[in-house]
Amino acid sequence: MFIAGNWKLNCNISEAKTLSSGIIKCLLNKELNCEVAVFPPYICLDSVKKTIEDSNLKLGAQDCSIHKSGAYTGDISANMLFDTGCKYVIVGHSERRTGKCESNNDILSKVNNALEAGLIPIICVGESVEDRDDGRAIDVIKKQLDESVPKNINKNNIMIAYEPIWAIGTGRVPNNSSINEMLNMIKDWLVNNERDSSINILYGGSVNKSNAEEIFLCSNIGGLLIGGVSLKADEFSEICLMVN
Ligand code: PEP
Repeated sequence: MFIAGNWKLNCNISEAKTLSSGIIKCLLNKELNCEVAVFPPYICLDSVKKTIEDSNLKLGAQDCSIHKSGAYTGDISANMLFDTGCKYVIVGHSERRTGKCESNNDILSKVNNALEAGLIPIICVGESVEDRDDGRAIDVIKKQLDESVPKNINKNNIMIAYEPIWAIGTGRVPNNSSINEMLNMIKDWLVNNERDSSINILYGGSVNKSNAEEIFLCSNIGGLLIGGVSLKADEFSEICLMVN
């Protein structure tokens, strides 16, 4: 089981140090049955890396460039992230697919760059509320998988996160049968497309300490991608400690 805390565009360096050491303190001397990683903004990566050095927390980045190097002002490459101490990178988050017009093809380039750099990409997929209402959710996600999941993957080098866009930051969470339907569909897609079907599949969207226990009951769930609540050291840690 894997729990990811996506801090998004939050925290200056001092706040990032406080948040990461707060999580370490909450998890200290507790039985932790999952891998936990935090995903601070780029500028905080180095400070957080130093803060978590002797702990069981791991480090990830929220995105990487489609390019490897060159004249791409403002970009950060997968190699640079690996060099900074990242183990993971989120790619294809809906806030980037929508807000930055990222295509499935862009996401595939990022995934390939991440794999080549030695990072574990977490590929986010999910449907909008319109897709769901029009009965297109499954087709939309299958297309995202078809066009952004490469062939050379296995459970040790990649994860997929199912994040319905309408659940992110809204307080609306699908019921377990709906989450199960999508997790099973992703599993079936992996089997039918000759990919390793034991790849971890995470759920993300308005997870908190009151609904996490229920979500963990979903069959095939490989972990959680948590946004807002990952900024609260105590609640985020409480969810991590629910894993048994
Ligand atoms: C996310 O950022 O991926 C996310 C799931 O956010 P939140 O938990 O705030 O809905």
